[in-house]
Amino acid sequence: MNNTQDIIQNVLVSAGGNTLQLCDIVFASKIMEVKPKSERYFDWDDLKEKEKRDNLLKEFVHLDEPQIFLLAIPGGIDSHVHFDTPGFEFREDFEHASKAAAAGGVTTVIDMPCTSIPPVTTTENFTHKISALKGRSLIDYCFYGGISGKNFNEDEVHKNISELSEAGVAAFKVYMISGMDTYGDLSERQMEFAARVIEKTGKPMAVHAEDKELVQTREMKFKNANRNDWKAYCDSRDARAEAVAIDKLISTVRKVNCKTHVVHLSSQMGLEQIKKAKSSRLHITTETCPHYLYFTQKDFENERIRNFLKTAPPVKCDKDVESLWQGLNEGLISFVVTDHAGCNPEEEKSSDNFWEVYGGIPGVEHRLPFMFSEGFLKGRLTLQKTIELLSENIADYYNIDKKGFLKPGRDADFCLIDLWNSQIVKSSEMQSKGKYTPFENVTFNAVVYQTYLRGRKIYDMNNPVTDNYNYGKFITVK
Ligand SMILES: [Zn+2]
Repeated sequence: MNNTQDIIQNVLVSAGGNTLQLCDIVFASKIMEVKPKSERYFDWDDLKEKEKRDNLLKEFVHLDEPQIFLLAIPGGIDSHVHFDTPGFEFREDFEHASKAAAAGGVTTVIDMPCTSIPPVTTTENFTHKISALKGRSLIDYCFYGGISGKNFNEDEVHKNISELSEAGVAAFKVYMISGMDTYGDLSERQMEFAARVIEKTGKPMAVHAEDKELVQTREMKFKNANRNDWKAYCDSRDARAEAVAIDKLISTVRKVNCKTHVVHLSSQMGLEQIKKAKSSRLHITTETCPHYLYFTQKDFENERIRNFLKTAPPVKCDKDVESLWQGLNEGLISFVVTDHAGCNPEEEKSSDNFWEVYGGIPGVEHRLPFMFSEGFLKGRLTLQKTIELLSENIADYYNIDKKGFLKPGRDADFCLIDLWNSQIVKSSEMQSKGKYTPFENVTFNAVVYQTYLRGRKIYDMNNPVTDNYNYGKFITVK
């Protein structure tokens, strides 16, 4: 435990919109005070040139104080990751992934229940998962419980959901279509049953929404025609497949008022459905990921990144990218997560048959720099909005009350972002186990400088920090 009081002097903190305030952060394991150096607020436009920033700020600073002048934000929360421990560690594991998270300014993740063996569908499996993670994480973690369509028995599902909620899972994850042998999707009837039970826990039901019937019919047709190319895969999982699934989900939510969250939204058509549900005041929310905000299907023509870019759902077109940014701005999309899912690229990303290529991108390391670079610095989002999408909204939605805000009483989880520096993404420098990314050679005009978890520095871009895999802990959600 860190009980000694510490201070970080002269950092910039968001004061709403694009305004900032120069502050000192006083902390132990929790934030004690965010102390402004003066009453003055600064507009980002006056700070974006480094020299101008230094001249403007130094009059508020004693000569003997460090003049960091970087942006301080709450530690990132990534509420959609597959860190694969235990069971799928030939792809990713908690040591590598949590180190990647720390390097990406992320201090808490919510790990998915499906990419574990056994899957987190019972408290027994959950206990197994927690003990498998002992001493293996640099960052804090929460969990999803899961409901698999395999051997679906209503009495057992009822019991498991109630017990997992008691045990402190943050939410539940279900699939309308699943590509995993170990974790089945739910029929509409099963989904409705699960939603009724989850509703009583007050926790969210997160749903992978692509229409099974549409996807499978097309997939069969393409495979029968010997189509093994990326285009066939993308056409089998088009925007309509997403929109039809969300439409069906809306019918369920009309009957059962369960807090429902559509994961990794990829299309404008899907977003239109979310908009419709929200205007009927249904409890439906959604999230998206950096790859849907940057890439389009044209990028599959680039052989160097083609297989690395494969995910389900696949990325869509220019108009979808623009709508998703707009959706973030308007509050229709609540947060940005990564769906971090890595693998060994030589083994699982190298096939010429696109159906056989593993679908997943390890992105936990790149989300913060991406969002500041492509969102805030390109003028698509305000500074405050960017921070909300990366931590504040997520802590609020999942009720992680110790995390997510740079405020007294919250855990001292924060990171310093250098908005006056840039980096070229190199897969060889990634911390995750699988070292590949479709963002290879893309420039991010923002760099994670340091990351702190409960007051302790867990990442420093210039000085190696001793890795303490005992430090990360399980955060229960009530
Ligand atoms: Zn996922």
